[in-house]
Amino acid sequence: MPSIKFINELEKNHITSLYGLEKIIADDDDCEYLFEAANRVRQKFVKQEVHLKALIEISNTCARECFYCGLRSKNKGIKRYKMSAEEIVSRAKEAAMSGYKTVVMQSGESSAFKDDEICEIIREIKKFDVQITLSFGEKSFEQYRAYKKAGADRYLLRIETADRALYKALHPNMSLKNRIKCLENLRNLGYETGSGLLVGLPGSSAKILARDLMFLKKYDFDMIGIGPFIPAANTPLEHSKAGSIKLALKANALTRLLLPKINIPATTAIETLDPNEGRKMALRSGANVIMPSITQSRYRDLYKLYPNKFCLKESAAEIYDKFDEMLSLIGDKISLTNGNSVRFNQRRGS
Ligand code: SAH
Ligand code: SF4
Repeated sequence: MPSIKFINELEKNHITSLYGLEKIIADDDDCEYLFEAANRVRQKFVKQEVHLKALIEISNTCARECFYCGLRSKNKGIKRYKMSAEEIVSRAKEAAMSGYKTVVMQSGESSAFKDDEICEIIREIKKFDVQITLSFGEKSFEQYRAYKKAGADRYLLRIETADRALYKALHPNMSLKNRIKCLENLRNLGYETGSGLLVGLPGSSAKILARDLMFLKKYDFDMIGIGPFIPAANTPLEHSKAGSIKLALKANALTRLLLPKINIPATTAIETLDPNEGRKMALRSGANVIMPSITQSRYRDLYKLYPNKFCLKESAAEIYDKFDEMLSLIGDKISLTNGNSVRFNQRRGS
């Protein structure tokens, strides 16, 4: 039981040493103990409620070359798409009418959409009285400011790893420094700011993951998504070993213990590795958000960050009902609040 004392310390004080985190990560014997502690902390700070957020994948065009990602520009094996503004807005309307309080728009990092176009879409969607989350990658301060002014509320930009050498090895022509700058800009502009990690990347280790988690703690993000790396075809890492679901769940649980009041999604990559139990396990080890894709299937099938990406085939309304039922079976329920994290509301003083 080498890591129990560190888990206890985390449950009580929400901090432990780097050494303690590394011990927990490296020790597979006390996982249940860890997951239960994270579940207790989740229930204490963010209740048994789950935020259901509707994800629209608006374009798979990307100018970046992240080594792990199936959408990287050098992958000529996929057909690229861009949804029209009308398609996006009508999807968002359907989500709002089905009860979702948040619409998340995600895409590859590119200039497929002009900023004016994005701002107009944001303004249109805001008319449906939902919160808007964006996840378009690295943009300039001015671009983030324009989206915010148009009505965007939140932004997701994972750090992936805060290890400088590993970051550099996986992201040609990108820098950890600029990634952090983007996150600081988002925070300064008043966005509810989300980040997160890809775990089990080739070249990572328990020590690197422990440092990554400390990075997330230090920056005190409002939301953190953690997914296991899944090798994608036509990428430099296509023959690498996938990250494990256990490691992702452990990182998820440690995140909840370190940052008790934030929002943590049960990520699609976790669901993909275990379509039957993955989501439930994530919700029972600290997660409190589900972000199902409601993108039309003809686009969704092309949004292949990695293979066999988990998705439900039903309509936005049917997906809502399905989760309503599934959550009640495990004693949770869909939150009827606007989807802000407790941490963000506290930061804003409301
Ligand atoms: N282009 C934007 C948003 C889309 S990518 C961005 O990069 O921020 C969204 C997330 O997908 C990334 O942050 C990354 O963590 C995840 N992802 C990409 N490729 C993956 C893979 N092969 N396995 C698991 N997750 C992956
Ligand atoms: Fe593009 Fe995002 Fe994939 Fe990197 S992770 S290649 S930025 S879609």
